[in-house]
Amino acid sequence: MKLGVASAVLATTARSIAQSPATSAIHSLPALPYAASDLAPHIDVETMNIHHGKHHAAYIAKLNEALATQSDLAKLSLDALQGQIHSINDPATQAALRNNGGGHWNHSFFWSIMTPAKDAGKPSEKLAAAINEAFGSIEKFQAAFAEAAMKRFGSGWAWLIIQNGKLKITSTPNQDNPLMKGIVSDAELGKPLLGLDVWEHAYYLHYQNRRADYITAWWNVVNWNAVNALLST
Ligand code: MN
Repeated sequence: MKLGVASAVLATTARSIAQSPATSAIHSLPALPYAASDLAPHIDVETMNIHHGKHHAAYIAKLNEALATQSDLAKLSLDALQGQIHSINDPATQAALRNNGGGHWNHSFFWSIMTPAKDAGKPSEKLAAAINEAFGSIEKFQAAFAEAAMKRFGSGWAWLIIQNGKLKITSTPNQDNPLMKGIVSDAELGKPLLGLDVWEHAYYLHYQNRRADYITAWWNVVNWNAVNALLST
């Protein structure tokens, strides 16, 4: 909120909005779990600030706007919401929830599976074994994941998911994700362990058109401890 000539009035309005369940924000921007500059040089501070403070914040604002007329969906957790978006009949509302509910989930997840390079850790024995079983080796897994990220035409995400107890690499367009039952194909549904944002807004300031360089650098800031924990829960 801007502070200006009517700041006293605005402050009063803000208090009354905060006290009213019907109009308070349903979802809010999570703080980054590290400083925006902490992922440099792999992801630069300007990209992080715009990506988190502008792009992610905009998804949340538009999600809350869409949920204002959806009292049942507004009660759901962000996780649970993903699986219910398909049930919305109105195409415009469904699109708003798909793009912005997905955008909020995907970015919240993305921040959580990254960390400063010095804290990156490594795959646990359990994760390494699962990766070896599914892909042959860590190197082969990383190559296959990078290929999925490179092949995503336009905007979207590459994912490592658990599906029926096995690891699988998938990719979704735009802000779709592996939790969106009834929207993405059943073959792409699962529990995400890793997700890589390959929208140009995620890398263009620093890498311009060099998506491959962004993907290579990104491995340095993968939070393996977080991924290990996701595998075990
Ligand atoms: Mn993004």
